[in-house]
Amino acid sequence: MERTKIARDLSRLIGKNKVSVDEALLRIYSKDPLGNVGKALAVVFPISSNDVSKVVQYAYENDIKIYAQGSSTSLAGSSLPLEAGIVLSFERMKRVLEISLVNSYVFVEPGVRIDDLNFELASKGYMFPVDPASSSVATVGGAINSGAGGMRGAKYGTMRDWVLGLELVLPDERGSIVFSGCKTLKCRQGYDIVRLIVGSEGTLALVTKAYLKITPLPETVIVALAFFPKLEDLMEAVVNIKTQRIQPYILEFLEKKTAEIAAKSINSNINIEGHMLLVGIDVNREAGSRYVEWMKKILIRHGAREVQTAESWEEAEERGLFNIRRSLFVAQSKIAREHYKNVKDAKVMLLIEDIAVPPSRLVEAVEGLKELEKKHGFITMLGGHVGDGNLHPSIGFNALDPKESKRAEEWFKDLIDLAISLDGTVSSEHGIGLAKKDALRRELDARGSVKLLEIMGNIKKVFDPKNILNPGKVV
Ligand SMILES: Cc1cc2nc3c(=O)[nH]c(=O)nc-3n(C[C@H](O)[C@H](O)[C@H](O)COP(=O)(O)OP(=O)(O)OC[C@H]3O[C@@H](n4cnc5c(N)ncnc54)[C@H](O)[C@@H]3O)c2cc1C
Repeated sequence: MERTKIARDLSRLIGKNKVSVDEALLRIYSKDPLGNVGKALAVVFPISSNDVSKVVQYAYENDIKIYAQGSSTSLAGSSLPLEAGIVLSFERMKRVLEISLVNSYVFVEPGVRIDDLNFELASKGYMFPVDPASSSVATVGGAINSGAGGMRGAKYGTMRDWVLGLELVLPDERGSIVFSGCKTLKCRQGYDIVRLIVGSEGTLALVTKAYLKITPLPETVIVALAFFPKLEDLMEAVVNIKTQRIQPYILEFLEKKTAEIAAKSINSNINIEGHMLLVGIDVNREAGSRYVEWMKKILIRHGAREVQTAESWEEAEERGLFNIRRSLFVAQSKIAREHYKNVKDAKVMLLIEDIAVPPSRLVEAVEGLKELEKKHGFITMLGGHVGDGNLHPSIGFNALDPKESKRAEEWFKDLIDLAISLDGTVSSEHGIGLAKKDALRRELDARGSVKLLEIMGNIKKVFDPKNILNPGKVV
C-alpha cells in the first residue's frame, strides 16, 4: 500500500499529529546503531493503548507489518523495520503512572526512559535496578522486549526478574487489549505469559503498560578500579571475589587495549596499567572503609598493580572511576571507524557480541577470543559484565569488501562455537533479533533441543497469525 494512503488512514483513526511520513524522519526511524537500514513506510506516535489498538486493527486488516520501537538502540537488529511497514514509536507514552513503595512496584508506560524512571524513584530512595549501558535513552518497553541486563546484572539479574504484570495489545483483528500477570510479587496465572513476552522482541504482542518491581537504593556503594598486568590474575581475582559471601553490585572488565582506547576517547587522566577490573559493593556507610581496605587487599594479593578506590558512589562518580567502562561502546565504534579512515567508500559495520559463559570459565573464554583475534586478523575490543560471565567482544569490518565480510562471518561463527563449547550462551541480554537466529539454532542443536524452535514458531503463530509483528526476527 502507498505510504500517503497509510498516513491518511492512520491520521483519520488516531489523529494527524501522531503520524508522519516525512522523508528525513523515515530515514532516522529506519536505522539501527549497527549500521543496518530498514524500510519505514510511516512512523506512528501513539499516546494511549487505544491508539495502539486502532493501529493494530488497521495493520491486521490491511496486512501491513508493525515494528515497535522504544529508542531503537537494539544491538541485535531487533527494532529494524526489515520489510516495508509501520514503525510504532512509544516515545510519547512515557508516563510514570504510579509508584507504590508498600507494594514494591512502579506502574509505567513503555516509552519511559530507564534513567528518567530512576530519577523519579531516587527521590524516594528506591531504584529500578536493570541498567543497560544505554539507560539514558533505552526505554522500559524496549528493555522488557529485549530482555535487557546491565552492570548490576550479577546482583539483580535481567528484565525477566523484574516484570510483574503487562498490559498488552494483541495482533488480532480487534487489536485486543489484555492484562497478564499481577500487581503482587507472588502470582500464579497458569502459563507464565509475562515471562514469555519478556525478551520476545516485539514479535508476539505490544506492551502498553507495565508493573515493574522496585528495590531500595543501597545506602552506599564502595568502588575499586584496578589494573592487572596479567589477565589470568584478574580472572582469578573475580573468582575469588565471587566466593567471598558477598554479591558485588558491579563487577566489570575491560581488556587492556580496549581500556586504553576507551580512556583516550574521553580524555581520562587514569593511567591504564593493564587489564581493568571495576568492582562495586553495596554496604552500610559505617562499613565503607572496612570494605574498601578488604577489597584493596584482595585485588593486590591477586596481582593488581594500580588500585583506585572510593568510599561512596558519589566519590567514584566525581573521580570518574566509571567513565572508562561507560565509554566502551563509543570506543568500539571509534576504533573500527579509525581503522578504515583511509579506505575509500568503506561501509563500516560493527559486530558487538553478547555471549555469556559460567564465570568459572571466563579465563578460557578470553583466551579463546585472543586465538580468534589471531586467526581472523580483526582487532577485537573486549569488555563485559564478568560478575555474571557476560562478555561483549566486538569487531568492525568493511561490509563492502566481500572477503572481509566473509571473514567477519567466520569470526562470528567461531565465537558462537566458543561460547557453546564452554557451556555458555550466544546472547545474554541483547536478544536474538536478526543477528543471532542461526546462532540460536546452533546453541539449541548442540543441546539436542532444536525442537524448541518449532515450539517457538508455533507460539508466534498463536499470538500473531498474520505475522504482522516484527516479522523475520527471533524465529
Ligand atoms: C551504547 C549501547 C549500550 C548498550 N548497553 C546495553 C547493556 O548494557 N545491556 C543490554 O541489555 N543492552 C544494551 N544495549 C542494547 C539496548 O540498548 C537495550 O536492549 C535496550 O534495553 C533497548 O531499549 P530501546 O528502547 O532502545 O529498545 P528498541 O531497540 O527500540 O527495541 C528493542 C526491542 O523491543 C521491541 N519493543 C520496543 N518497545 C516495545 C513495546 N512497547 N512493545 C513491544 N515491543 C517493543 C522492539 O521491537 C525491539 O524488538 C546497548 C545499546 C547501545 C547502543
